Amino acid sequence: MNDDWQDYSFDTLAVRAGQQRTHEGEHSEAIFPTSSFVFESAAQAAARFAHKEEGNIYSRFTNPTVRNFQQRLAALEQGEDCIATASGMGAIMSVCLGLLQAGDHIIASRSIFGSTVNFFTGIIAKFGVETTFVELDNIEEWQQAITKNTKLMFLETPSNPLMEMADIRQLADLAHQHDILLCVDNCFCTPALQKPLTLGADIVVHSATKYLDGQGRCIGGAVVSNHDFLHNKVLPVMRSAGPSMSPFNAWVFLKGLETLNIRMQAHCSNALRLAKWLDSKDMVEKVYHPGLPSHPQHELAKKQQANFGGLVSFELKGGREAAWKVIDSTKLMSITANLGDVKTTITHPATTTHGRLTDEQRAQANIRQGLIRLSVGLEDVVDLEADLARGLMQL
Ligand SMILES: *Cc1c(COP(=O)(O)O)cnc(C)c1O
Repeated sequence: MNDDWQDYSFDTLAVRAGQQRTHEGEHSEAIFPTSSFVFESAAQAAARFAHKEEGNIYSRFTNPTVRNFQQRLAALEQGEDCIATASGMGAIMSVCLGLLQAGDHIIASRSIFGSTVNFFTGIIAKFGVETTFVELDNIEEWQQAITKNTKLMFLETPSNPLMEMADIRQLADLAHQHDILLCVDNCFCTPALQKPLTLGADIVVHSATKYLDGQGRCIGGAVVSNHDFLHNKVLPVMRSAGPSMSPFNAWVFLKGLETLNIRMQAHCSNALRLAKWLDSKDMVEKVYHPGLPSHPQHELAKKQQANFGGLVSFELKGGREAAWKVIDSTKLMSITANLGDVKTTITHPATTTHGRLTDEQRAQANIRQGLIRLSVGLEDVVDLEADLARGLMQL
């Protein structure tokens, strides 16, 4: 990151960091939809290709709009640098392809995004990289899973959909005692609420598709880390495997970052209000939200995060029938598995995001049939309560 930025605070960086105006003097960031770049001369082309001169060659490697997004996100995560990717899965893939080789070992939290589990067990496993899954908040289990081949520890905190949390500092210390890198998928909190690199993590990955965009428009991702890791491990994957972000998407994400903090604070305040409201209802067995004092890691949430996040899950006493009734009675909320949008989304994890698990795996993960997940949006919370009340009253 440009050293000049270090004096500025989060909200200023979110609006300003990374912009380099062109000679046209545009106020808003420019979009550069160009696949390649032209050179002054054959000699300059040769110098760029030989890495003797910095500069753009081809948008699979670098692009000015993408670079702008990368610098802004790096500034917000307090990382040295960032590489943007075509999707969140593209970010996770790029970290793994860049870092690992056959024989290496990953330790991952059991409570991570379904496609990440599939990537670890179905894709990277084919190339001889093995993954051990452990309980997110059980430090002994992480410790016991370490082998001499372990290169990467991977987690999300808070987890989806039950909002379990890990102490990032504690896991980073454990990882570093064994020369292992700790990678945190910071999709749920975003840097507005949690900065894993400042807590000792080595790598942050993002699905920009979620809160960074915030309005459900584009698919994208990013890896934030130190310059050497990105330059030596991730950039070669971008160059030769090509999961690059499009300039148009980068521009949408730049606009998303400008309002990230105020959106996140509003998501958090709506979510906490809805969590408390649900907690007061008889038909609700349990509410999962780190902002409730009843959450087993409420204290850790207060210490590790700037706020409690925009997701709320709750368990109904009446099982699947009750859950589907509440979901189907909503008129406002969107029935979809996506999250991190200004529009509230409502999901039945047991039959969608976690539908491919066996009954036993689901039981182990505590995903019961009565569970509903909300990604609380920015509608008026009174209208959201009314939307849920319609179904709850029928139970
Ligand atoms: C959505 C998501 C991903 C994958 O991101 P895509 O942009 O959909 O590829 C990874 N991790 C988490 C936590 C997610 O929610």
